[in-house]
Amino acid sequence: MTLRRILVLGTGGTIAGAGGSATGAGYRAGGLALDALVAHLGALGLAAELVPQEVARIGSQDIGFAEWRALHAACTAAMDDPAIDGIIITHGTDTAEETGLLLDLTLPTAKPVVLVGAMRPADAVGADGMRNFANAVKVASDPAAAGRGVMLVMGDAVLAARDARKAATSAIDAFRTFPRGPLARVTPASLDWFGPAHRLGEAARYPFPQELPRVAILTAGAGMDAQPVDALLGIGARGIVLAGMGQGNAPRTVLEALARAAASGVPVVRASRVDEGLVDRNVEVDDDALGLVAARALGPAKARMLLMVLVANGVTDAKAVQAAFDGG
Ligand code: ASP
Repeated sequence: MTLRRILVLGTGGTIAGAGGSATGAGYRAGGLALDALVAHLGALGLAAELVPQEVARIGSQDIGFAEWRALHAACTAAMDDPAIDGIIITHGTDTAEETGLLLDLTLPTAKPVVLVGAMRPADAVGADGMRNFANAVKVASDPAAAGRGVMLVMGDAVLAARDARKAATSAIDAFRTFPRGPLARVTPASLDWFGPAHRLGEAARYPFPQELPRVAILTAGAGMDAQPVDALLGIGARGIVLAGMGQGNAPRTVLEALARAAASGVPVVRASRVDEGLVDRNVEVDDDALGLVAARALGPAKARMLLMVLVANGVTDAKAVQAAFDGG
């Protein structure tokens, strides 16, 4: 049997983290070299040939445009390389949803792209990284994994990057998926898809941006005034995401200031500071009158990423921005 060849792009994160103690709390994310990680994995007898390529060795809280551009370029090259069957990206969990969505929006679906992380450093007792990685290899090696967009493997679940959200700071079971459930259940020995590939043959939805514009998240709080909105406009924000209360609500004065921002050409998207649930148009906030956009299923972090990609591609009109948020 010919082994499937999987490109492994390393960025760091807790999966490549070590604390020097199996029981201590402190550790450094991204401390371990990818080669060492992959060598360790070689001993697991995985049914795939792994091709390591280190992009960064950082905690994902420090990831930014340079790393995203490098990841996108490496994934694009691998998509065009007939010798590569699938791609795994080892990544910190803090911002996996942002990197995942950015790549999901800007890559074709021709080959599986799988982000994988861990909640416990590699040398901690009960470390979850090796299991998660073995699961990711199982997914990335499966021809049926193509055509599903970028995925995230955590625990024994395969999540669509667009739907995945980190919802716990330290539990192994840290990710939730909304509004759709998991795409598949995976173990190192088995993989069960819950439905057919829904994005087969899809091209990239957006070109990868030349640069990412400043888009800010403004969290609503009871009793706040409108000054933070003016401050964001003052530092040149080109888009604003409201992490609103409940269904994306905010005090009236804040909404009025956001409406002024929208009228001046800075698109404003209402998301929610609540973990789960849709933010729909015109529920308690009159989006039509105020010129605002409802984030629908995307939480603030992913709403910001989508809005950055839209603004970078010249999409700022409220109707067009809403259409992008409506599209699954
Ligand atoms: N801070 C780490 C990171 O995102 C957390 C993790 O990987 O779980 O890189």
